[in-house]
Amino acid sequence: MSHQSQSDVVVGSNGYQPQESARQPSQLTQAVHAGEERYISHHSVTVPIVQTSTYTFKDTAALIDFVESHMFWDVPEREEYGRYGNPTVRAAEAKIAALDKAEDALLTSSGMAAITSTLLIMLSTGDHFIITEDCYRRTRAFCRTFLTRFGIECTTVRPGDYDGIEAAIQPNTRLIFSESPTNPFMRCLDYARLADIAKRHKIKTAVDTTFGTPMNVRPIEYGIDLVIHSVTKYLAGHNDLLAGCVVGNFEITTALRQSQGVLGAVVDPHCGYLILRGLKTLGLRMRQHNASGLAVARFLEDHTKVKRVWYPGLESHPDHPIAAQTMEGFGGVISFEIDGDGPATSRFIDSCRIPRIGPSLGGVESLIEQPAIISYYDTDPDVRQSLGISDELVRLSLGIEETADLIADLAQALDAV
Ligand SMILES: *Cc1c(COP(=O)(O)O)cnc(C)c1O
Repeated sequence: MSHQSQSDVVVGSNGYQPQESARQPSQLTQAVHAGEERYISHHSVTVPIVQTSTYTFKDTAALIDFVESHMFWDVPEREEYGRYGNPTVRAAEAKIAALDKAEDALLTSSGMAAITSTLLIMLSTGDHFIITEDCYRRTRAFCRTFLTRFGIECTTVRPGDYDGIEAAIQPNTRLIFSESPTNPFMRCLDYARLADIAKRHKIKTAVDTTFGTPMNVRPIEYGIDLVIHSVTKYLAGHNDLLAGCVVGNFEITTALRQSQGVLGAVVDPHCGYLILRGLKTLGLRMRQHNASGLAVARFLEDHTKVKRVWYPGLESHPDHPIAAQTMEGFGGVISFEIDGDGPATSRFIDSCRIPRIGPSLGGVESLIEQPAIISYYDTDPDVRQSLGISDELVRLSLGIEETADLIADLAQALDAV
């Protein structure tokens, strides 16, 4: 690998470099500093937004030197064209990889782009894969409407049914795709158990941990091969961009980078910078989301106008034992049923003053929704029923507002039920 001579990138001299012998930096410190060492330039404390579509070469010899060396290095010496890489985006990727304790990470233009490219790269005609039932709706739609067209078969298994997963494995099964915690019932995976099943059958595993974030859970440490995030949610954290991420070992991320050069679902430099900026406060934000999540879940569970609460931090949640074992916090999303009918539930939602009505989650602003209306309005009532999406179901994504303010607001809104 040749050394770059024309760059003003400062490595080491002023960059953050955890020492071998020093205390291992915590997630909070990593969120601020990790991944940026290579990309510090002009003595700037921040990673610059490298707003360019392409990159130039000093002379033909430099170009030949570049094309003769590996195009997709783990840590590339330089870039060639915007669809193949950008320094600002690379820094954000390196930071996410450090937080997930993985070799590498790849950013994509949305969470769905991360999911669809992963499935497209890992599966071919004649392959079979397994997906858990309550995965993100659009993920299931992609399996149903796209992958079947290419002769890729999928078996759906109920979450928590590990024997069912093992029983669904066929000789052509290549991948087990799951999600944890899930939406809206916050089911949590036993990552080690899933990884063990997959490894015994030489199958890869991918888990969408958008609701968890690497602050609360790191499935790679349990032997899961790939972690997927909708960066749109907690990682970027400000309800102001769309992006996704795939995290794993170099072998897989390199294949994904190469496919991204063909599929084209990249994030632009500005978006890369906003992700990097959002990640700096991920640790602090998650502390607040986790604290409010638990406090609000307990408040709701004790409230007479609330029938049921799903939050993995509550002992009443079916997956509380495994969540308590594997998660450092339980996040800011809570699902609950109002003790009333659909219209009473809408009255409650309309009476909330802090959470605004809307889809999505994981941002600094609290958002609230009735899944039966926002996501399942046109779904057959029987199907909706079988998925457990009642008219009284509410999903609340707590932002980083003061916990006591959120509880007071929910209390006054529950009076309207
Ligand atoms: C939002 C979401 C996605 C899709 O991400 P986009 O960034 O909206 O494309 C995938 N999985 C989960 C769990 C999500 O919440």
